[in-house]
Amino acid sequence: METRRIPPFVLCLAAILALLTVNAAAQSGPGWVAAYRETATRLIKAATGDDFAWQRLSELTDTYGNRLAGTDNLTRAIAWAADTMRKDGLDNVHTERVMVPHWVRGRESAEIVDPPRHPMAILGLGGTVATPPAGIEADVMVVESFNDLRMRAGEARGKIVLLNEAFTNYADTVTYRTGSARAAGQAGAVGVLVRSVGPIGLRTPHTGSVNYQSDVAAIPAAAISGEDANRIARLIARGHKVRVHLTLEGHNEPDAESANVVGEIRGRERPEEIVLLGGHIDSWDVGAGASDDGVGIIVTWEAVRLMKKLGIQPRRTIRLVLWTNEENGTRGAAAYAERYATTATNHVFALEADSGVFEPARFGFSGSLAARNIIRSVLALKARILWTEIVERGAEPWQILSTLLGLLELAKLGELRVAQPRPFANVEISRDTAGEAA
Ligand SMILES: [Zn+2]
Repeated sequence: METRRIPPFVLCLAAILALLTVNAAAQSGPGWVAAYRETATRLIKAATGDDFAWQRLSELTDTYGNRLAGTDNLTRAIAWAADTMRKDGLDNVHTERVMVPHWVRGRESAEIVDPPRHPMAILGLGGTVATPPAGIEADVMVVESFNDLRMRAGEARGKIVLLNEAFTNYADTVTYRTGSARAAGQAGAVGVLVRSVGPIGLRTPHTGSVNYQSDVAAIPAAAISGEDANRIARLIARGHKVRVHLTLEGHNEPDAESANVVGEIRGRERPEEIVLLGGHIDSWDVGAGASDDGVGIIVTWEAVRLMKKLGIQPRRTIRLVLWTNEENGTRGAAAYAERYATTATNHVFALEADSGVFEPARFGFSGSLAARNIIRSVLALKARILWTEIVERGAEPWQILSTLLGLLELAKLGELRVAQPRPFANVEISRDTAGEAA
Protein backbone atom coordinates (compact mmCIF):
# COMPACT_ATOMS: atom_id res chain seq x y z
CA MET A 1 0.00 0.00 0.00
CA GLU A 2 1.38 3.33 -0.98
CA THR A 3 0.21 6.48 0.65
CA ARG A 4 -0.19 8.37 -2.54
CA ARG A 5 -2.43 5.82 -4.15
CA ILE A 6 -5.50 6.53 -2.13
CA PRO A 7 -6.24 10.14 -2.93
CA PRO A 8 -6.82 9.65 -6.66
CA PHE A 9 -9.37 7.05 -5.86
CA VAL A 10 -11.03 9.20 -3.26
CA LEU A 11 -11.32 12.04 -5.65
CA CYS A 12 -13.03 9.84 -8.18
CA LEU A 13 -15.46 8.67 -5.65
CA ALA A 14 -16.08 12.09 -4.24
CA ALA A 15 -16.69 13.49 -7.66
CA ILE A 16 -19.12 10.77 -8.54
CA LEU A 17 -21.02 11.08 -5.35
CA ALA A 18 -21.36 14.76 -5.70
CA LEU A 19 -22.59 14.37 -9.20
CA LEU A 20 -25.00 11.63 -8.53
CA THR A 21 -26.90 13.85 -6.22
CA VAL A 22 -28.22 15.68 -9.22
CA ASN A 23 -31.73 14.96 -10.38
CA ALA A 24 -30.25 13.26 -13.35
CA ALA A 25 -33.38 11.63 -14.62
CA ALA A 26 -34.92 15.03 -15.19
CA GLN A 27 -31.93 16.32 -17.08
CA SER A 28 -31.16 15.90 -20.69
CA GLY A 29 -27.86 15.91 -22.48
CA PRO A 30 -24.45 15.83 -20.93
CA GLY A 31 -24.49 19.55 -20.21
CA TRP A 32 -26.13 19.14 -16.81
CA VAL A 33 -22.97 17.74 -15.40
CA ALA A 34 -21.00 20.95 -15.96
CA ALA A 35 -22.79 22.57 -13.04
CA TYR A 36 -20.94 20.16 -10.76
CA ARG A 37 -17.48 20.84 -12.04
CA GLU A 38 -16.63 23.32 -9.34
CA THR A 39 -17.93 21.05 -6.59
CA ALA A 40 -15.97 18.14 -7.98
CA THR A 41 -12.85 20.25 -8.17
CA ARG A 42 -13.17 21.26 -4.53
CA LEU A 43 -13.55 17.64 -3.49
CA ILE A 44 -10.61 16.59 -5.59
CA LYS A 45 -8.45 19.28 -4.08
CA ALA A 46 -9.44 18.30 -0.56
CA ALA A 47 -8.92 14.60 -1.23
CA THR A 48 -5.49 15.06 -2.70
CA GLY A 49 -4.32 17.65 -0.22
CA ASP A 50 -3.13 15.29 2.50
CA ASP A 51 -2.81 11.66 3.52
CA PHE A 52 -5.78 11.65 5.87
CA ALA A 53 -7.33 8.56 4.28
CA TRP A 54 -4.13 6.57 4.52
CA GLN A 55 -3.69 7.59 8.14
CA ARG A 56 -7.21 6.50 8.97
CA LEU A 57 -6.69 3.17 7.23
CA SER A 58 -3.52 2.56 9.19
CA GLU A 59 -5.27 3.51 12.41
CA LEU A 60 -7.98 0.94 11.66
CA THR A 61 -5.64 -1.88 10.78
CA ASP A 62 -2.91 -1.17 13.33
CA THR A 63 -5.34 -0.78 16.19
CA TYR A 64 -7.90 -3.48 15.46
CA GLY A 65 -6.07 -5.93 13.24
CA ASN A 66 -7.91 -8.46 11.16
CA ARG A 67 -11.64 -8.60 11.70
CA LEU A 68 -13.31 -11.92 11.10
CA ALA A 69 -17.00 -12.15 11.97
CA GLY A 70 -17.50 -13.12 15.57
CA THR A 71 -14.19 -11.75 16.84
CA ASP A 72 -13.51 -9.05 19.39
CA ASN A 73 -11.37 -7.28 16.81
CA LEU A 74 -14.40 -6.75 14.60
CA THR A 75 -16.61 -5.66 17.48
CA ARG A 76 -14.04 -3.09 18.57
CA ALA A 77 -13.51 -1.84 15.01
CA ILE A 78 -17.25 -1.37 14.60
CA ALA A 79 -17.45 0.67 17.81
CA TRP A 80 -14.49 2.76 16.69
CA ALA A 81 -16.03 3.37 13.27
CA ALA A 82 -19.35 4.53 14.71
CA ASP A 83 -17.62 6.76 17.23
CA THR A 84 -15.34 8.24 14.58
CA MET A 85 -18.21 8.87 12.18
CA ARG A 86 -19.92 10.85 14.93
CA LYS A 87 -16.77 12.87 15.44
CA ASP A 88 -16.72 13.51 11.70
CA GLY A 89 -20.13 15.09 12.10
CA LEU A 90 -22.02 12.63 9.91
CA ASP A 91 -25.79 12.51 10.34
CA ASN A 92 -27.82 9.66 11.79
CA VAL A 93 -24.79 7.61 12.82
CA HIS A 94 -25.83 4.29 14.32
CA THR A 95 -25.20 0.58 14.23
CA GLU A 96 -27.71 -2.01 13.05
CA ARG A 97 -27.47 -5.34 14.84
CA VAL A 98 -26.75 -8.45 12.81
CA MET A 99 -26.11 -11.99 14.02
CA VAL A 100 -23.12 -13.43 12.20
CA PRO A 101 -21.45 -16.82 11.89
CA HIS A 102 -18.37 -17.40 14.00
CA TRP A 103 -15.90 -19.69 12.31
CA VAL A 104 -12.63 -20.31 14.13
CA ARG A 105 -9.54 -21.44 12.25
CA GLY A 106 -7.59 -23.06 15.07
CA ARG A 107 -4.19 -24.60 14.40
CA GLU A 108 -3.37 -26.04 11.05
CA SER A 109 -0.47 -27.70 9.31
CA ALA A 110 0.39 -29.85 6.34
CA GLU A 111 3.53 -31.58 5.26
CA ILE A 112 4.76 -33.99 2.66
CA VAL A 113 5.78 -36.96 4.76
CA ASP A 114 7.87 -38.86 2.23
CA PRO A 115 11.55 -38.27 2.52
CA PRO A 116 12.54 -35.57 2.50
CA ARG A 117 9.82 -34.33 4.78
CA HIS A 118 8.57 -30.98 3.60
CA PRO A 119 6.35 -28.74 5.73
CA MET A 120 4.05 -26.66 3.54
CA ALA A 121 2.73 -23.15 3.93
CA ILE A 122 -1.04 -23.57 4.15
CA LEU A 123 -4.21 -21.79 5.14
CA GLY A 124 -7.39 -23.67 5.81
CA LEU A 125 -10.13 -22.40 3.55
CA GLY A 126 -12.67 -20.24 5.33
CA GLY A 127 -15.39 -22.43 6.75
CA THR A 128 -13.44 -25.65 6.41
CA VAL A 129 -14.30 -28.54 8.66
CA ALA A 130 -11.60 -29.99 10.86
CA THR A 131 -9.64 -33.15 10.35
CA PRO A 132 -9.59 -35.64 13.22
CA PRO A 133 -7.29 -34.25 15.96
CA ALA A 134 -4.36 -36.37 14.78
CA GLY A 135 -4.88 -35.22 11.21
CA ILE A 136 -5.31 -37.27 8.06
CA GLU A 137 -2.59 -38.82 5.98
CA ALA A 138 -3.14 -39.91 2.42
CA ASP A 139 -1.61 -40.08 -1.04
CA VAL A 140 -2.08 -37.00 -3.14
CA MET A 141 -3.80 -36.99 -6.50
CA VAL A 142 -3.06 -33.92 -8.61
CA VAL A 143 -5.59 -32.57 -11.09
CA GLU A 144 -5.48 -29.40 -13.10
CA SER A 145 -9.17 -28.74 -13.50
CA PHE A 146 -12.61 -29.92 -12.47
CA ASN A 147 -12.85 -31.66 -15.81
CA ASP A 148 -9.59 -33.45 -15.16
CA LEU A 149 -10.99 -34.56 -11.80
CA ARG A 150 -14.20 -35.80 -13.41
CA MET A 151 -12.27 -37.77 -16.01
CA ARG A 152 -10.12 -39.44 -13.35
CA ALA A 153 -12.67 -39.59 -10.54
CA GLY A 154 -12.06 -43.30 -10.07
CA GLU A 155 -8.55 -42.59 -8.76
CA ALA A 156 -9.63 -40.13 -6.08
CA ARG A 157 -11.16 -42.38 -3.46
CA GLY A 158 -9.31 -42.22 -0.15
CA LYS A 159 -6.85 -39.62 -1.43
CA ILE A 160 -6.16 -35.98 -0.82
CA VAL A 161 -6.95 -34.24 -4.09
CA LEU A 162 -4.79 -31.29 -5.05
CA LEU A 163 -6.49 -28.90 -7.44
CA ASN A 164 -3.48 -27.42 -9.16
CA GLU A 165 -5.42 -25.08 -11.44
CA ALA A 166 -3.55 -22.46 -13.43
CA PHE A 167 -4.22 -18.98 -12.07
CA THR A 168 -5.62 -16.61 -14.68
CA ASN A 169 -7.56 -14.00 -12.76
CA TYR A 170 -9.43 -14.02 -9.50
CA ALA A 171 -12.94 -14.09 -10.90
CA ASP A 172 -12.24 -17.03 -13.20
CA THR A 173 -10.03 -19.08 -10.91
CA VAL A 174 -11.82 -18.65 -7.60
CA THR A 175 -14.36 -21.32 -8.47
CA TYR A 176 -11.62 -23.88 -7.90
CA ARG A 177 -11.44 -22.76 -4.30
CA THR A 178 -15.15 -22.43 -3.59
CA GLY A 179 -16.06 -25.62 -5.42
CA SER A 180 -13.06 -27.70 -4.39
CA ALA A 181 -14.49 -29.59 -1.43
CA ARG A 182 -17.65 -30.58 -3.20
CA ALA A 183 -15.91 -31.77 -6.34
CA ALA A 184 -13.26 -33.75 -4.48
CA GLY A 185 -15.74 -35.03 -1.90
CA GLN A 186 -18.02 -36.26 -4.64
CA ALA A 187 -15.13 -38.32 -6.04
CA GLY A 188 -14.49 -39.90 -2.66
CA ALA A 189 -11.45 -37.89 -1.56
CA VAL A 190 -10.76 -37.58 2.17
CA GLY A 191 -9.37 -34.05 1.91
CA VAL A 192 -8.69 -31.37 -0.67
CA LEU A 193 -5.85 -28.94 -1.23
CA VAL A 194 -6.16 -26.01 -3.58
CA ARG A 195 -3.41 -24.12 -5.28
CA SER A 196 -3.86 -20.61 -3.84
CA VAL A 197 -6.00 -18.36 -5.98
CA GLY A 198 -3.43 -15.73 -6.79
CA PRO A 199 -0.11 -15.24 -8.45
CA ILE A 200 2.83 -17.24 -7.23
CA GLY A 201 5.20 -15.49 -4.85
CA LEU A 202 7.09 -15.93 -1.60
CA ARG A 203 5.33 -19.20 -0.91
CA THR A 204 2.22 -17.38 0.21
CA PRO A 205 -1.03 -19.27 0.71
CA HIS A 206 -4.27 -17.38 0.24
CA THR A 207 -7.42 -18.13 2.19
CA GLY A 208 -11.04 -17.46 1.20
CA SER A 209 -14.22 -19.42 1.58
CA VAL A 210 -15.05 -22.94 0.55
CA ASN A 211 -18.61 -24.02 -0.14
CA TYR A 212 -20.07 -27.23 1.15
CA GLN A 213 -23.26 -28.71 -0.23
CA SER A 214 -25.69 -30.89 1.63
CA ASP A 215 -25.49 -33.62 -1.01
CA VAL A 216 -21.79 -34.35 -0.41
CA ALA A 217 -20.04 -35.06 2.87
CA ALA A 218 -17.87 -32.13 3.95
CA ILE A 219 -14.13 -32.83 3.70
CA PRO A 220 -11.28 -30.72 5.11
CA ALA A 221 -10.05 -28.08 2.65
CA ALA A 222 -6.94 -25.91 2.62
CA ALA A 223 -4.96 -23.73 0.27
CA ILE A 224 -1.26 -24.29 -0.31
CA SER A 225 1.24 -22.00 -1.98
CA GLY A 226 1.81 -22.19 -5.71
CA GLU A 227 5.38 -23.24 -5.05
CA ASP A 228 4.33 -26.22 -2.95
CA ALA A 229 1.62 -27.15 -5.45
CA ASN A 230 4.21 -27.16 -8.21
CA ARG A 231 6.58 -29.27 -6.13
CA ILE A 232 3.93 -31.93 -5.57
CA ALA A 233 2.95 -31.88 -9.24
CA ARG A 234 6.57 -32.28 -10.32
CA LEU A 235 7.18 -35.18 -7.96
CA ILE A 236 4.11 -37.01 -9.16
CA ALA A 237 4.93 -36.32 -12.81
CA ARG A 238 8.27 -38.03 -12.22
CA GLY A 239 6.49 -41.10 -10.94
CA HIS A 240 6.81 -40.53 -7.20
CA LYS A 241 3.96 -41.09 -4.83
CA VAL A 242 3.41 -38.08 -2.63
CA ARG A 243 1.91 -38.61 0.78
CA VAL A 244 0.66 -35.65 2.80
CA HIS A 245 -0.31 -35.27 6.43
CA LEU A 246 -2.95 -32.60 6.95
CA THR A 247 -4.27 -31.25 10.24
CA LEU A 248 -7.03 -28.64 10.44
CA GLU A 249 -9.05 -27.48 13.42
CA GLY A 250 -11.55 -25.17 11.68
CA HIS A 251 -14.98 -25.21 13.27
CA ASN A 252 -18.07 -23.12 13.81
CA GLU A 253 -19.04 -21.67 17.15
CA PRO A 254 -22.47 -20.25 17.94
CA ASP A 255 -23.51 -17.17 15.96
CA ALA A 256 -22.25 -13.92 17.41
CA GLU A 257 -23.63 -10.41 17.59
CA SER A 258 -22.23 -7.90 15.12
CA ALA A 259 -23.48 -4.83 13.28
CA ASN A 260 -23.49 -2.77 10.13
CA VAL A 261 -22.27 0.76 10.77
CA VAL A 262 -24.35 3.50 9.17
CA GLY A 263 -23.70 7.20 8.74
CA GLU A 264 -25.35 9.69 6.42
CA ILE A 265 -25.39 13.11 4.92
CA ARG A 266 -29.00 14.08 4.87
CA GLY A 267 -30.29 15.19 1.47
CA ARG A 268 -31.53 18.76 1.20
CA GLU A 269 -34.35 18.23 -1.29
CA ARG A 270 -35.08 14.51 -1.43
CA PRO A 271 -33.87 13.16 1.88
CA GLU A 272 -35.94 10.02 1.51
CA GLU A 273 -34.00 8.98 -1.59
CA ILE A 274 -30.80 7.11 -0.86
CA VAL A 275 -27.43 7.00 -2.56
CA LEU A 276 -25.85 3.98 -0.90
CA LEU A 277 -22.16 3.37 -0.68
CA GLY A 278 -19.60 1.53 1.38
CA GLY A 279 -17.40 -1.49 1.77
CA HIS A 280 -17.11 -4.33 4.29
CA ILE A 281 -15.55 -3.82 7.69
CA ASP A 282 -14.99 -7.51 8.37
CA SER A 283 -12.02 -9.37 6.93
CA TRP A 284 -10.49 -12.80 6.98
CA ASP A 285 -8.50 -13.70 10.06
CA VAL A 286 -5.06 -13.51 8.49
CA GLY A 287 -3.25 -10.36 7.44
CA ALA A 288 -4.58 -6.98 8.51
CA GLY A 289 -7.68 -6.69 6.37
CA ALA A 290 -6.19 -3.58 4.77
CA SER A 291 -6.72 -4.27 1.07
CA ASP A 292 -9.77 -6.40 1.68
CA ASP A 293 -11.57 -4.34 2.58
CA GLY A 294 -10.17 -1.68 4.90
CA VAL A 295 -9.46 0.50 1.91
CA GLY A 296 -13.00 0.08 0.60
CA ILE A 297 -14.57 1.41 3.76
CA ILE A 298 -12.03 4.19 4.17
CA VAL A 299 -12.36 5.60 0.67
CA THR A 300 -16.14 5.58 0.66
CA TRP A 301 -16.20 7.02 4.15
CA GLU A 302 -13.66 9.64 3.11
CA ALA A 303 -15.89 10.81 0.28
CA VAL A 304 -18.70 11.44 2.75
CA ARG A 305 -16.44 13.00 5.36
CA LEU A 306 -15.05 15.45 2.83
CA MET A 307 -18.48 16.46 1.61
CA LYS A 308 -19.47 17.15 5.20
CA LYS A 309 -16.29 19.03 5.91
CA LEU A 310 -16.68 21.21 2.84
CA GLY A 311 -20.32 21.90 3.56
CA ILE A 312 -21.53 20.18 0.40
CA GLN A 313 -25.08 19.07 1.01
CA PRO A 314 -26.43 16.79 -1.69
CA ARG A 315 -29.99 16.78 -2.91
CA ARG A 316 -30.45 13.16 -1.87
CA THR A 317 -29.30 11.42 1.27
CA ILE A 318 -25.96 9.73 0.95
CA ARG A 319 -25.85 6.69 3.19
CA LEU A 320 -22.52 5.14 4.06
CA VAL A 321 -22.71 1.55 5.27
CA LEU A 322 -19.75 -0.41 6.57
CA TRP A 323 -21.02 -3.94 6.08
CA THR A 324 -20.33 -6.70 8.51
CA ASN A 325 -19.68 -10.32 7.58
CA GLU A 326 -19.17 -10.07 3.85
CA GLU A 327 -16.46 -12.68 3.82
CA ASN A 328 -18.21 -15.68 5.22
CA GLY A 329 -21.91 -15.10 5.12
CA THR A 330 -22.96 -11.68 3.76
CA ARG A 331 -25.32 -11.52 6.70
CA GLY A 332 -24.81 -7.75 6.95
CA ALA A 333 -26.08 -7.19 3.43
CA ALA A 334 -28.97 -9.59 3.94
CA ALA A 335 -29.97 -7.84 7.16
CA TYR A 336 -29.88 -4.48 5.44
CA ALA A 337 -32.05 -5.67 2.58
CA GLU A 338 -34.56 -7.08 5.03
CA ARG A 339 -34.57 -4.00 7.22
CA TYR A 340 -35.11 -1.62 4.32
CA ALA A 341 -37.27 -3.84 2.15
CA THR A 342 -40.25 -1.52 2.31
CA THR A 343 -38.16 1.43 1.18
CA ALA A 344 -36.02 -0.50 -1.28
CA THR A 345 -37.15 1.57 -4.23
CA ASN A 346 -35.91 4.71 -2.53
CA HIS A 347 -32.41 3.53 -3.28
CA VAL A 348 -31.39 5.24 -6.48
CA PHE A 349 -27.77 4.18 -6.59
CA ALA A 350 -25.48 1.74 -4.81
CA LEU A 351 -21.73 1.52 -4.82
CA GLU A 352 -19.51 -1.10 -3.23
CA ALA A 353 -15.75 -0.61 -3.13
CA ASP A 354 -14.09 -3.98 -2.62
CA SER A 355 -11.34 -4.43 -5.17
CA GLY A 356 -8.41 -2.52 -3.81
CA VAL A 357 -7.59 1.12 -4.34
CA PHE A 358 -4.48 1.21 -6.37
CA GLU A 359 -5.16 2.45 -9.86
CA PRO A 360 -8.76 1.64 -10.69
CA ALA A 361 -8.88 0.21 -14.15
CA ARG A 362 -12.54 -0.44 -14.72
CA PHE A 363 -15.89 0.70 -13.66
CA GLY A 364 -18.25 -2.22 -13.31
CA PHE A 365 -21.82 -1.19 -13.73
CA SER A 366 -25.25 -2.72 -13.67
CA GLY A 367 -28.31 -0.71 -14.42
CA SER A 368 -30.48 0.77 -17.09
CA LEU A 369 -29.21 2.44 -20.22
CA ALA A 370 -30.33 5.76 -18.80
CA ALA A 371 -28.30 5.19 -15.68
CA ARG A 372 -25.33 4.13 -17.73
CA ASN A 373 -25.51 7.35 -19.69
CA ILE A 374 -25.51 9.32 -16.47
CA ILE A 375 -22.37 7.52 -15.38
CA ARG A 376 -20.78 8.32 -18.72
CA SER A 377 -21.57 11.97 -18.26
CA VAL A 378 -20.10 11.90 -14.78
CA LEU A 379 -16.96 10.30 -16.09
CA ALA A 380 -16.64 13.11 -18.57
CA LEU A 381 -15.93 15.28 -15.54
CA LYS A 382 -13.28 12.91 -14.48
CA ALA A 383 -10.34 15.24 -14.06
CA ARG A 384 -7.57 12.78 -13.21
CA ILE A 385 -9.83 9.78 -12.92
CA LEU A 386 -8.08 6.73 -14.20
CA TRP A 387 -10.96 4.56 -15.25
CA THR A 388 -10.80 3.76 -18.86
CA GLU A 389 -13.89 1.72 -19.40
CA ILE A 390 -17.26 0.79 -18.05
CA VAL A 391 -17.93 -2.91 -18.02
CA GLU A 392 -21.15 -4.85 -17.72
CA ARG A 393 -20.56 -6.60 -14.48
CA GLY A 394 -21.45 -4.40 -11.62
CA ALA A 395 -23.11 -6.78 -9.27
CA GLU A 396 -22.50 -10.28 -10.40
CA PRO A 397 -19.22 -11.25 -8.76
CA TRP A 398 -19.51 -9.09 -5.72
CA GLN A 399 -21.09 -10.58 -2.70
CA ILE A 400 -22.63 -7.60 -1.04
CA LEU A 401 -24.18 -6.12 -4.12
CA SER A 402 -25.28 -9.50 -5.33
CA THR A 403 -27.05 -10.09 -2.07
CA LEU A 404 -28.44 -6.61 -1.86
CA LEU A 405 -29.60 -6.41 -5.40
CA GLY A 406 -31.07 -9.84 -5.31
CA LEU A 407 -33.09 -9.02 -2.25
CA LEU A 408 -33.91 -5.45 -3.08
CA GLU A 409 -34.96 -6.44 -6.54
CA LEU A 410 -37.58 -8.71 -5.06
CA ALA A 411 -39.00 -5.74 -3.26
CA LYS A 412 -38.87 -3.67 -6.41
CA LEU A 413 -40.96 -6.00 -8.50
CA GLY A 414 -44.39 -4.74 -9.29
CA GLU A 415 -45.87 -1.37 -9.86
CA LEU A 416 -43.02 0.58 -8.40
CA ARG A 417 -40.70 -0.43 -11.12
CA VAL A 418 -43.10 0.91 -13.69
CA ALA A 419 -44.27 3.90 -11.76
CA GLN A 420 -40.80 5.01 -10.88
CA PRO A 421 -38.65 4.53 -13.92
CA ARG A 422 -35.68 6.12 -12.25
CA PRO A 423 -32.33 4.57 -12.90
CA PHE A 424 -31.29 2.06 -10.35
CA ALA A 425 -27.63 1.50 -10.68
CA ASN A 426 -24.83 -0.01 -8.79
CA VAL A 427 -21.23 0.51 -9.38
CA GLU A 428 -18.21 -1.54 -8.61
CA ILE A 429 -14.79 -0.05 -8.90
CA SER A 430 -12.35 -2.65 -10.01
CA ARG A 431 -8.69 -2.97 -10.23
CA ASP A 432 -7.88 -5.20 -13.13
CA THR A 433 -5.14 -6.97 -11.32
CA ALA A 434 -4.54 -10.60 -10.70
CA GLY A 435 -4.85 -11.66 -7.12
CA GLU A 436 -6.73 -8.69 -5.74
CA ALA A 437 -9.30 -10.76 -4.02
CA ALA A 438 -12.58 -9.21 -3.18
ZN1 LIG B 1 -13.81 -8.04 0.07
